[in-house]
Amino acid sequence: MKILVVGSIAYDSVETPEGKRESQLGGSASYFSVAASHFTEVGMVGVVGNDFSEDDLALYRSHEIDTSGIETVDGKTFRWTGDYLQDINTAVTHETQLNVFADFSPELSEKHAEAPFLFLANIEPSLQLQVLESMSSRPKLVACDTMNLWIDIARGPLAELISKVDVLTINEGEARQFTEEQHLPTAAAALLESGPSTVVIKRGEYGAALFSKHFNFAAPAYPLAKVVDPTGAGDSFAGGFMGYIAATGDTTEEGLRRGAIVGSTMASFAVEAFGLDRLRSLSRQNIEERFNAFVDLTRFQAIDGSNALPLR
Ligand code: AMP
Repeated sequence: MKILVVGSIAYDSVETPEGKRESQLGGSASYFSVAASHFTEVGMVGVVGNDFSEDDLALYRSHEIDTSGIETVDGKTFRWTGDYLQDINTAVTHETQLNVFADFSPELSEKHAEAPFLFLANIEPSLQLQVLESMSSRPKLVACDTMNLWIDIARGPLAELISKVDVLTINEGEARQFTEEQHLPTAAAALLESGPSTVVIKRGEYGAALFSKHFNFAAPAYPLAKVVDPTGAGDSFAGGFMGYIAATGDTTEEGLRRGAIVGSTMASFAVEAFGLDRLRSLSRQNIEERFNAFVDLTRFQAIDGSNALPLR
């Protein structure tokens, strides 16, 4: 197994300008795993209640996701309710019910503890830290994500986590909130100072900006005619990004740049339908065509020596 992910496994109730869904399968680990499974083997660590449907477990398994790290306990699965009615790029949370996550204490099998790539998807930072500390050796690459709730109520553990990862993915509002810097490059510089060697700032329909100590890169979002449900876009971005890097082992600058475009590719599918509906039905051809459309979208001819800018 190449990538281990810990994160939420959820039933989401979501309203967007395109409609409303009750109790659809979601959660940061679900979106990440299904997106990454198109590239490499993924193992999930998390917990569900005894209300979790067999069909939803079957969905993971149909993507060859290792579900042996998903514990089922008495109680209700994590639930999140939110909307994107004011701004399609910003989720407004109505309710978060941790339910079975409140008492969850992840224990990794030997196989899981040896995974070479680790994604600590959005969940309580102390759980993310516990998983990181349970790895038998330091993975080749550790990435994490988080959200405003944890910045508000678990800032200490979150800062400790951020100091220990290689890649932080965070949305722009949260980057500003965590660093108290309004200007994004300044916020990114502060985050780079606090530990990670790469910070990916997610900007919804404006794409993602990758900052490292050595280079910066901007990955656009795909110009879709319609965004149906933005839930999970960030996790799907992370799934494509890590999936590509884990599948190729390429952690060079070029690998990270390409990974960001693969991430944007998967995020662009995630938002085309409610929940996991689009991500779960993708063919290889769909992914290749969308990736190539990104190559075209970002292509321009650099100016060589004889062909300078026509400056006056
Ligand atoms: P995003 O990629 O940021 O749109 O992530 C959306 C997913 O995050 C939804 O499917 C929710 O179930 C999940 N989520 C919302 N709030 C939390 C939370 N506090 N902890 C973990 N997961 C959450």
